[in-house]
Amino acid sequence: MKIALILPSTKILTKLHFLPIGLSYLAAIAQKKGFSVSVFFKKTWKEIAEELEANLDEFNLVGMQTFATNIEQCLSLACWIKERKPDMKIVFGGVHAANFPEDILFNYPVDMIIKGEGEIAFEHILEKISNGNPLTDIPNSIWKEENSLKLSSESSIMHNLDDLPYPAWEFFYREKPISTGHISTFRGCPYNCANCPSRTNEEGTVREYSVSRVIDEMSILSYKYGASSFEFYDETFGLNRSRTLDICKAICSSFKNISWSCYTRVRHVDKELLQSMKASGCKSIFYGVATTRKHLMDILRFHNDLAEVKQKIRLTRETGIKTTVSFLVGIPGEKFSDSVSTIKYGLSLDADRIVFQPCIPFPGSHLYETAKKCGKFIVDDLSKLEGWNKTFFIPQGRSASGINSTLFMAKSLSKIKTFLF
Ligand code: SF4
Repeated sequence: MKIALILPSTKILTKLHFLPIGLSYLAAIAQKKGFSVSVFFKKTWKEIAEELEANLDEFNLVGMQTFATNIEQCLSLACWIKERKPDMKIVFGGVHAANFPEDILFNYPVDMIIKGEGEIAFEHILEKISNGNPLTDIPNSIWKEENSLKLSSESSIMHNLDDLPYPAWEFFYREKPISTGHISTFRGCPYNCANCPSRTNEEGTVREYSVSRVIDEMSILSYKYGASSFEFYDETFGLNRSRTLDICKAICSSFKNISWSCYTRVRHVDKELLQSMKASGCKSIFYGVATTRKHLMDILRFHNDLAEVKQKIRLTRETGIKTTVSFLVGIPGEKFSDSVSTIKYGLSLDADRIVFQPCIPFPGSHLYETAKKCGKFIVDDLSKLEGWNKTFFIPQGRSASGINSTLFMAKSLSKIKTFLF
């Protein structure tokens, strides 16, 4: 039995240095069950189609990971495959398909959509494919039956993450030594940001890998793949303070001369934790702040205490860790005076790098629905974006040229500040 796991890429996905962790687990599960696996990654759907053309008949199942930015590519590839091999089973996972199952299942030749975590559903799919059974009634799945949409009554998440096999890194890290190893230390999220397309699907239950599992993964990436630098993929590193201290201690006793970076919110760091992070090799932290205006924080459902932001950024720098702080321009409901307030505040911070980006309400998120009511989209589909710096949405009362010049001004001032200080 042969399986193709595919992440069709647009320009924006090709530029990003990331590991599709979800696909790497699915590849590992399929291999463990004795399936032959091929992974297609960082290629457009046409390039993938060219590669598949010669041996499409050998495959029994195609799984694709969808985002708002690559959904058009996924759909084009699904149509191309079904035209040539109508009995091929095609399953979509990822946030975009889970948010728009009706449109996809009724209008395109896709057999099933996985909603939320894929591993448990994927094991059931492999079993059904092996036994020649139809793809129906699998936990966390949506499928079409007699012109109606069926949603599995059973939903499940991995409770013990250590039960997962190690990711099949070999499909994704093809050159050695790799420049950065990507590690995830937990799943789930206690927050509910309005612009999170996945938070509308996935349960917020936080589940952690054991500290020893985190160290084991880092060791494999270090000794087998040559990684000396790591990026923690956790949405909010340090969510569980005492466990984070344990991870830092374990890194100190297991590795010499490694460095790592992470993303978090200022409320999750303090002096002791930062010192421990620094001692274990943390070289940079990316803090998301988004805006200074309370009514916009409410719209984003993303709140920060601005005095705390200032204090923690200073503390991070004093500890010797570099800081990047990001802000958004053009949030639904944002006026010019709000943008100016955010930009002035951002530039006043003692950070190494201040990033100003256009607000992109992701299809499927609550923010997208808000944006539709109070503004307009000037790019009709996200797959056309070539970078995160292109304006996608204009709040009511603002113009595209106004947002673009505000962003240009903010970025220029940020560059000047970095250059001078
Ligand atoms: S965007 Fe917000 S809600 Fe979504 S995963 Fe990140 S922190 Fe959690």
